[in-house]
Amino acid sequence: MKPIIAIVGRPNVGKSTFFNRITGTRGALVDDFPGVTRDRIHADVTWEDASFTLVDTGGFLKEDRDEFSALVQDQIYQAVQDADMIVLVLDGKAGVSPFDMDLVEMLRSVRKPIFYAVNKIDGPDHEENLYEFFDLGIEKPYPVSAEHGYGIGDFMDDLGAAISAFGPQTMIDAPRESIGVAVLGRPNVGKSSLINRILGRPRLIVSDLPGTTRDAVDTLCEFNGRSYLLIDTAGIRRKSRVTQRLEKFSVIKALRSLDRCDVALVVLDSGAGVTEQDIKIAGYAHDRGCGAVFLFNKWDMVQERKHTLKRYMEQLRMEAKFLSFAPALEVSAVTGQGVMKIFQLVDEVYRQYAFRLGTGELNRILAQAVERTEPSLFRGKRLKFYYATQVSAKPPTIVCFVNYPEGVHFSYKRYLINQVRAETGLNQTPVRMVFRRRERDARRTAHGAGHKAQGLRRKGARRTT
Ligand code: GDP
Ligand code: GDP
Repeated sequence: MKPIIAIVGRPNVGKSTFFNRITGTRGALVDDFPGVTRDRIHADVTWEDASFTLVDTGGFLKEDRDEFSALVQDQIYQAVQDADMIVLVLDGKAGVSPFDMDLVEMLRSVRKPIFYAVNKIDGPDHEENLYEFFDLGIEKPYPVSAEHGYGIGDFMDDLGAAISAFGPQTMIDAPRESIGVAVLGRPNVGKSSLINRILGRPRLIVSDLPGTTRDAVDTLCEFNGRSYLLIDTAGIRRKSRVTQRLEKFSVIKALRSLDRCDVALVVLDSGAGVTEQDIKIAGYAHDRGCGAVFLFNKWDMVQERKHTLKRYMEQLRMEAKFLSFAPALEVSAVTGQGVMKIFQLVDEVYRQYAFRLGTGELNRILAQAVERTEPSLFRGKRLKFYYATQVSAKPPTIVCFVNYPEGVHFSYKRYLINQVRAETGLNQTPVRMVFRRRERDARRTAHGAGHKAQGLRRKGARRTT
């Protein structure tokens, strides 16, 4: 389990520039489907031996840039509550603002590692801008330039050391064969009602397991001889009426539970339909590569059911194309409708998610696919697919060795994945495909010589004759 580090600070101090500098990514996340772009607000980073997940809290609400707005303050406060470590970014050009003082004051009571990065110190001759930040009473302000990279190395070395000292989060072992299920959704869609309804069933054995050494508590339940670990759900189950109204969606909590789950249940409110935030939440599940099931809860309130389902499904398939493989189900936590079917869907999604495909079959499928529709030329050269193998499950991940990995167009990749799906019935799980240059080709490119390679396409063709 990687620690989650939240970048906080008032608007315009350079949080997203800082995020991009450290993660090496550009602003937007481009999915396999053109037209679907979202702001990238989280990324996994490895710096020397330290691995962590970095979250740009500024990215949560790009549109609201008024630093004193309640939204901005809430969002900072919540990130500080939920993350394992905090980086407060300050603006070395603008100097200390009253809001910075409030933030630092708030952080004083937090028992988590906190780093103070004074940004926009673009070189040694700007370092004098650092001095006024000592007035904030912070121990070690780091001078950095997110835009130009100044000071970032030193900062990251210290952050990395803190992460190593932080140590791995120890987890109590859940039964190995249990299926990890995360329940996600906007506040008030009915997550806690649904979980309580599920757990209220007879024939279901329930116990609490500490999820991590931190505040998360999982619920283990058994049903029809299988065990399921409902991740980080104890808190949702027991939430009081008072906290309910104050509850906000926490991206950090969602990322944390997605990191540990096999299948995410993305709960929607049938009364509200498919909202933008539902799609964002589904996007986090997609980014984490887990299986997913959409649940249209509060179905008891829907009038024209057939018509509504059709409309919602169309909307979902359009707006959450990236999860087009995820099944959807209408449920009601109040009447219990559909609730037990959730497990059937989870079982099937999990079966596919953990599926291992034989190398022979995989190569036969790909050879056929390549033969049926050849890839377009890459810089005038033919692409050759030599060999493919599934390197891991959860989700099924396939590595294809080709002569020009960079020459495989995303639409061709999608075609190949769809062929694998069609031939294997893996239609409800994410499937990853990665293209790599074959060792021999890499060497040959380096030496500029070699004889013609035997392609996957040719092999497959020969086998069928
Ligand atoms: P955020 O609102 O905190 O995410 O801030 P942004 O990352 O969007 O940056 C706000 C502005 O500060 C942009 O115009 C950036 O180009 C600028 N900026 C960010 N980092 C630096 C830096 O290191 N030096 C300078 N001079 N400008 C920076
Ligand atoms: P959470 O914030 O996602 O955990 O949502 P809650 O479980 O607290 O539910 C929010 C509100 O929706 C409560 O008033 C519930 O009684 C109501 N609710 C939850 N599920 C259903 C449902 O299936 N049908 C109806 N009609 N109301 C529901």
